[in-house]
Amino acid sequence: MVTLQEAVDSIESDPDRRHIVNISGGKDSAALAIYLKQQYPELPAEYVFCDTKCELPETYDFLDNLQTLLGKPIQRINAFNTLNVREVGGDDRNPFEIFLDELYTGFLPSPRNRWCTRELKIRPLEKYLEESTAYSYIGIRGDESRDGYQSKKPPSFSQKPSIIPVYPFKDDDLGYEDVQDLLEDSGLGMPKYYQWRSRSGCYFCFYQQIGEWQGLKENHPEFFDKAKAYEKEVGGKKFTWVDGKTLDEIANSPRRAIQDLDETAGCAICHL
Ligand code: SF4
Repeated sequence: MVTLQEAVDSIESDPDRRHIVNISGGKDSAALAIYLKQQYPELPAEYVFCDTKCELPETYDFLDNLQTLLGKPIQRINAFNTLNVREVGGDDRNPFEIFLDELYTGFLPSPRNRWCTRELKIRPLEKYLEESTAYSYIGIRGDESRDGYQSKKPPSFSQKPSIIPVYPFKDDDLGYEDVQDLLEDSGLGMPKYYQWRSRSGCYFCFYQQIGEWQGLKENHPEFFDKAKAYEKEVGGKKFTWVDGKTLDEIANSPRRAIQDLDETAGCAICHL
């Protein structure tokens, strides 16, 4: 880890070093991109979004608007164009389905086995960067206790030593209200899915609360049905997104409110 100032100073001392601003499709990483552009216009930022191909339509709309605001392309990478996963699949399955079928034998990812983050987010970014040494700017806020790259839990981010994390909001002490102000003042606003969901990420993300799954059914019934189709029963054992409950049971249960977000859960590459 280096400080923001050290990373900025390296622009002159080490001009080959890359400066990757990770865009997740969430509010914090979008605010970070805006903040860096406003405060450090000399930074040769590369904006990168790792697309799982299982994102919400609201996320793609938000990215388009953010890109217009930044005035520079957001590179959209995925397991097809970095890892050649399509060649393994050779059909019209998305990368998640190919990994699920070919490598994980139908075993759905979960907070304890977050293979989706590794295969669909971390490895495509590592492949995209190849052997480059890069600073990786991460939107963990000054008022969060998440440790992202240093996490002792399953990796939230690449562990490659050549990918060096930088936490500008922690260094400059920007919190939730600052993020809100950056988004509102720039005219971008919050991603629309925050009206019914508390974080960014795949439509089937297992970090969703019961009320968010119910919100998915109300807002995007086709995605709810797709998520449902991944659930299976094999040899009497149920593979479900939520421990001990099928999505059908969740859909038929009383409507739940969305609780305050536990920001220490989730991961620094999907949910910022
Ligand atoms: S958003 Fe959730 S389901 Fe998607 S890659 Fe990240 S942790 Fe996995």
